[in-house]
Amino acid sequence: MSLRYKAKRRERYYRKLRRCQYKGCTSEGIACFLPENYSGQPDEFYCGEHAHAVGYCRCCGQFWGGICSFDFRRSGFCDHCHDQVMANSAELDDNAEYWEATDPHANV
Ligand SMILES: [Zn+2]
Ligand SMILES: [Zn+2]
Repeated sequence: MSLRYKAKRRERYYRKLRRCQYKGCTSEGIACFLPENYSGQPDEFYCGEHAHAVGYCRCCGQFWGGICSFDFRRSGFCDHCHDQVMANSAELDDNAEYWEATDPHANV
């Protein structure tokens, strides 16, 4: 079995695993990465609703738990994603209703 083939198989395996790992949740999750993860393979998967609750940015999936600006941001976006989105839509504020209505992963 070639290495490339193995990588392909693993990729498919991970795609199948993309279910939110939050107990009882059946939504499709985004790839979540812990800070020491340099493998490129996600550590966990959580949907937009639960990623923030366990400390991951719901947009990029990087772990931001324990960072005040992230923990208290109701949108569930990390500083990077927040800045990026803000730059794209300057007049929108940190409004949870808005974010729920425009979940970037809603129709993936
Ligand atoms: Zn979930
Ligand atoms: Zn982010």
